[in-house]
Amino acid sequence: MARPVRFNIKPKARDYKGHIGLADTPDGYMGEGFFATKLSDVIGLARKNSLWPMPFATSCCGIEFMATMGAHYDFGRFGSERMAFTPRQCDMLMVMGTIAKKMGPVLRQVYIQLSEPRWVLAVGACASSGGIFDSYSVMQGIDQIIPVDVYVPGCAPRPEAILDGVLALQELVKNESIRRRHSEKYQQLLSSYGIQ
Ligand code: SF4
Repeated sequence: MARPVRFNIKPKARDYKGHIGLADTPDGYMGEGFFATKLSDVIGLARKNSLWPMPFATSCCGIEFMATMGAHYDFGRFGSERMAFTPRQCDMLMVMGTIAKKMGPVLRQVYIQLSEPRWVLAVGACASSGGIFDSYSVMQGIDQIIPVDVYVPGCAPRPEAILDGVLALQELVKNESIRRRHSEKYQQLLSSYGIQ
């Protein structure tokens, strides 16, 4: 029988019953029968490990995403196997592919409909910067119309690169203050995109 493969990134999360990884506990104080930590750390831990993707795939990068969801790369290991094609049930928008300027208002509408807190991953050169399509009809990066949290380089990025981007996003999510969405800075960011 093949040996189970360990996928965990951090060594201290390994070795639970041989091959099932546990999420790292946040920093805190532990005694007999109690564990105390910050509320924002607990919320960050839960959010980080339950990002629900909304795939917005328009071309080739979307095929790499399909591979990422498949059994070999197994996106479900990161708590993100639950895709939805309705933005109201997702909090991680993954934009993959060439975005034509005509598609811009649609993408923006999808972003607005995502539930808060929401995060955006620009997957591949086209979504990040227009890629090789420096033409009148192609948007030169989705950050012209919506805020982006993580950019994944490559044309096309391999599934490993997509997973690397998701891990980077998880670190952001884990460390984000639960008050950030009400902060003046965040409101200013949205206002700069004309989003209320
Ligand atoms: S970045 Fe490359 S692989 Fe991805 S959509 Fe653009 S042309 Fe296709």
